[in-house]
Amino acid sequence: MGKMTLDRILQSQGFGSRKWCRQLIADGEVRVGGEAVDDFRTAFETDGLEFSVFGEDWRYREKVYLAVNKPPGFECSRKPSHHPGVLTLLPEQFTWRDVQPVGRLDHDTTGLLLLSDDGAFIHAQSSPRRHVPKLYLATTAEPVTGALVDALLRGVQLHDEPAPLAAQVCRQVGESLLEIVLEQGKYHQVKRMLAAAGNHCAALRRTAIGGLGLDALALEEGEWMFLEEEHLALLA
Ligand code: URA
Repeated sequence: MGKMTLDRILQSQGFGSRKWCRQLIADGEVRVGGEAVDDFRTAFETDGLEFSVFGEDWRYREKVYLAVNKPPGFECSRKPSHHPGVLTLLPEQFTWRDVQPVGRLDHDTTGLLLLSDDGAFIHAQSSPRRHVPKLYLATTAEPVTGALVDALLRGVQLHDEPAPLAAQVCRQVGESLLEIVLEQGKYHQVKRMLAAAGNHCAALRRTAIGGLGLDALALEEGEWMFLEEEHLALLA
């Protein structure tokens, strides 16, 4: 909040080093209210500030909250080793802002992934005490049986867990398709639960986190968007 010079504003929004931001401004690449501003010392009220860089429109945001419809073949880890990182799906300034995934999806899991540069938000969302329900659509290797659904609802014992883990909701929605709601976020949880219950996960897609559904966001695979207050309220 408050006034900031244009070079600091651009730097805070991830457009690069102070030096690089000053160069962009001097080159006339930055517009505010449709007008190129070529003096980096020009100060603006940041609250609600709209500007463009290389003709692309942006709004000043103290913190960013993003949703991505993750395609297969991208890693959520900080230092991806075998596949490109999910951050490569986003404009470069989010890497500069140190945006991180909120929790992780396996490289072959698709669907709704949140990202943010708000450490407190990431921490709160990832806390095991929060119990935010996450909805998954799992394609099974073998056809779904009533016994499989019962086992997942009753709870299955995973090797390194002290107690059985159960799905909050488990519904058969196709011959080899299950809708599963989990409140925990253990490592490979859906895949391990399916294996422990005698089947196997052939494909996995996360379709909702809390009340935030991927369908309502209308994101194509690989696309991202800013989450606004009304979206974040659905995660509470
Ligand atoms: N459970 C899994 O097994 N993998 C994921 O990516 C998410 C939940």
